[in-house]
Amino acid sequence: MDTPLPIVIVGGGPAGALAGERLARGNRNVLLFDEKLAWEKPCGGGITHKALTQYPFLAEAESHHNPVAHCELISPSGQRVRFYMQYPVAIFSRLALNELLLERARAAGVELRKERVTRISGVDGDWRLTTPTGEYRAVYLILAAGARNPFRAQFLSPISPDDLLITAGYFIPGRSSLMQIQFLKGITGYIWVFPRPDHVSAGIAGKMGETSTAELRRTLERWLEENSFSLEGARFFSHILPALRSRTLETLEVCGEGWAMVGDSAGLVDPITGEGLYYALRSAELCAQALLAERPAGYKVQLEEEILPELRLAARVSQRFYGGQVFGESVLERMVSLTSQSESFRVLMSDLFAGIQGYRDLRSRLYRSLPSLMAEGLAATLRLPWSGSGLATDPFAE
Ligand SMILES: Cc1cc2nc3c(=O)[nH]c(=O)nc-3n(C[C@H](O)[C@H](O)[C@H](O)COP(=O)(O)OP(=O)(O)OC[C@H]3O[C@@H](n4cnc5c(N)ncnc54)[C@H](O)[C@@H]3O)c2cc1C
Repeated sequence: MDTPLPIVIVGGGPAGALAGERLARGNRNVLLFDEKLAWEKPCGGGITHKALTQYPFLAEAESHHNPVAHCELISPSGQRVRFYMQYPVAIFSRLALNELLLERARAAGVELRKERVTRISGVDGDWRLTTPTGEYRAVYLILAAGARNPFRAQFLSPISPDDLLITAGYFIPGRSSLMQIQFLKGITGYIWVFPRPDHVSAGIAGKMGETSTAELRRTLERWLEENSFSLEGARFFSHILPALRSRTLETLEVCGEGWAMVGDSAGLVDPITGEGLYYALRSAELCAQALLAERPAGYKVQLEEEILPELRLAARVSQRFYGGQVFGESVLERMVSLTSQSESFRVLMSDLFAGIQGYRDLRSRLYRSLPSLMAEGLAATLRLPWSGSGLATDPFAE
């Protein structure tokens, strides 16, 4: 009897590795290609409490990450506030994270190949993949090749530049226990400093078309110098990151006859924060579950139920978050000043950074918190949201 063809996964980042592991544990024959296998992919590497709860093996891999409980927010005008995060963010180097996930995939039975897939042809049930060393066949295809997925155009329309962020950054030698986020004037994005176990990932993101990599790099370098970071021995990186607009998310396709896309390949990234690791892992898991249940199209149904409504809301409010006004001040300035003035708001920020406060019920939580915010001395500066233009300028209004 012929051996059944494997499921082939193109890309061994978090999405590809976890999809492979889950499928192999379900006794599927899986072949995974990654041109580099584990590597230091340009990334902050920040993993939220929500993701750590969903994937406890990440929290347990203590030597692989730096649990960071203190965060500094800096507004565009330079107001600074530090707050404690009840649920620390686990900051991984991507080399360590990818190694961990690929090793789990290998241990579950996935065959890993360090090869670049250069061509895909064939049809559902009998795909042909070409690499520099040969041709492989697949019964089903999972595309987990990241934001630069070279095969996207073959299955779907390419991601538009309007749906992308550009990023630039440095891996800087040194240690720290403070996570920093600097919001910027005129840039839909921010500067981050994420301390990892043995170095720091510092970077900047902005919307493609609104700025250039060179401009972002200059802004970041200036900021790092002003904030006493030395670039001696630092390594530069730049990459792209999906930040899909709401209209793109409304019509998002992620699977078809005999294929599916997961993680960045599918565009599953929070368009406000750039968080993609949780979505890469969760989309991979949902895709694998649908395949194991012999209902591949169930993947899209689960995404629609669990992930897409949150990403769509984030996309709708992203513009107002970065560029809007609330109570006569920019949303970003107001957010930093509320964090500094109000304990309830600091708890809310901590929950947002933990990923346990979603966007969908954020607005109602903000309204519920108003009495305590006011009791905390803000009555003088806050206009009640139901009077005048408050509701219209609410950044989380849909
Ligand atoms: C600068 C930056 C900072 C970020 N910071 C954070 C953060 O702090 N927290 C967070 O949650 N998210 C962050 N993200 C997003 C996060 O990095 C991505 O969402 C995540 O890596 C997506 O995982 P993935 O497996 O889908 O894709 P990737 O991690 O990009 O993996 C894709 C893999 O496919 C391989 N590949 C590509 N083409 C081929 C081919 N033809 N043949 C074989 N292999 C191929 C690549 O080698 C790669 O290993 C950041 C992104 C950027 C750019």
